[in-house]
Amino acid sequence: MTVRSKAILKVAEIGNPVLRSPTHPIANIHAPMVQQLIDNLIHTAIKTNGVGIAAPQVSESLQLFIVASRPNLRYLHAPVMEPTPMINPQIVAYSDEQEQGWEGCLSVPGMRGLVGRSREIEVLWCDRHGQPHQKVFTDFVARIIQHEYDHLNGKVFLDRVESTLDLMSDAEYHSQIVCG
Ligand code: ZN
Repeated sequence: MTVRSKAILKVAEIGNPVLRSPTHPIANIHAPMVQQLIDNLIHTAIKTNGVGIAAPQVSESLQLFIVASRPNLRYLHAPVMEPTPMINPQIVAYSDEQEQGWEGCLSVPGMRGLVGRSREIEVLWCDRHGQPHQKVFTDFVARIIQHEYDHLNGKVFLDRVESTLDLMSDAEYHSQIVCG
């Protein structure tokens, strides 16, 4: 077994052009550089309490993100997932039914925004061993995936907020939304 080191990567913040740049599909999933990047992204998501992180957020313009759902105060029944890398993902179907929900982002520190997302999506992706998967996701996990998928297309959740009235600071979010 190869033991690789893990690093917490520096997260690019809003204003950094890398968050707005096009991303490229990963041609060789087995490349050590790609496998190391996956390990580092998982490690960074865990250490920063993120429920997802995309490669452009650590300045790698590649089509890769990690989904790491776990229950939280707003989504008590969110599933606990092993951090799941999705490589060259494609959302192939979106439900018409949408749901509003508050989102935050490691690249937009201190802010939350109310964003409408499809409640159900179907996703096609490759895992870190190069195996293809196709699966339907709902609710919180579907939201995470749509948020991360946006990062691969140079978008952040702020672009999806309908009105600046739907923005809140983290502190207000915690006092108003989480604590009711
Ligand atoms: Zn984000």
